[in-house]
Amino acid sequence: MYSSNFEYFRPTTTAEAVEMLRAHPGAKLLAGGHSLLPQMKLRVAQPAALVDIGRLSDLAGISLDGDSLRIGALTTHNTLAMSAVIQEHCPILSEAALQIGDQQVRNRGTVGGSLAHADPAADLPPVMVALGATFSALGPGGARDIPASEFFVDIFTTALKPDEILTGIKVKAYGAGTGGAYLKHAHPASGFAVVGVAAIVMVKDGKCTGARVAVGGATPNPVLATAAGEWLAGQATEAAAFATAAGKVNDAISDPLSDHYATAAYRRQLATVLTRRALIAACTRATK
Ligand code: FAD
Repeated sequence: MYSSNFEYFRPTTTAEAVEMLRAHPGAKLLAGGHSLLPQMKLRVAQPAALVDIGRLSDLAGISLDGDSLRIGALTTHNTLAMSAVIQEHCPILSEAALQIGDQQVRNRGTVGGSLAHADPAADLPPVMVALGATFSALGPGGARDIPASEFFVDIFTTALKPDEILTGIKVKAYGAGTGGAYLKHAHPASGFAVVGVAAIVMVKDGKCTGARVAVGGATPNPVLATAAGEWLAGQATEAAAFATAAGKVNDAISDPLSDHYATAAYRRQLATVLTRRALIAACTRATK
């Protein structure tokens, strides 16, 4: 299939890209093109114009400032997976990025593209929610921050306005005694997450001092399983505690997705099993 006709623009600055989006209603940003171009070929998306931000190098890269990590929106999945800074200070991001597609997809696909696309089966959204990330957006009215918990609005829908660009993501580096794990049940054909669970666990003196669990793939948006995380605080780091916490993860999953591969009940079961395993893995890493 061929896409419908569109105008093509290649801005040289981020400000110019914002202006192009404003001046051309119906335009879409093009980053790695690994989600948008297939959609255009299927004519699921028929943008009037493409604003190609793929060469805006100031939108790419990873930096650490104190305990704050900043990931540029154009950073590729491969860069995220291989970054020594990320592996040292927030390794769950590398772990999740490494599970995205294949090497070709990771070489071209970008973090910002994945988050802005908001596919319920994507790997990075639940990780960002578990980390409590902050998303930076730039539009004609200026810059604003959006918490990850408010960014994902519905399937393929985010809190970004049509003329806003996601410029970067801020996450806190792990503190002492922190571990994380991302596990997914991959669809056997596509490799996308049928259900993916991100868990962050804080441990001190053999007890959990806090935990955050987010589930992707089960619902239109990734959800933070607050009850599971809150229950773990103060518990001993024992298998029984993680199993009990995992049993509470379904409190956060109302109206799960259901399709010919995985029913709603199967997704709920996957969420429980993967949460227990992710919590155990995160705890083991926290105590190393
Ligand atoms: P694009 O396709 O260029 O854009 C996607 C959407 O986001 C468009 O609507 C675009 O306008 C918008 N956009 C892009 N950048 C920005 C920005 N900075 N600000 C605002 N809007 C923006 N993903 C997974 O999570 N797990 C997988 O296992 C997986 N497997 C894949 C397998 C294959 C074969 C393919 C082709 C893709 C797979 N993906 C997977 C998706 C992949 O991660 C894509 O790279 C990603 O979803 C989109 O990133 P992109 O840079 O290609 O974005």
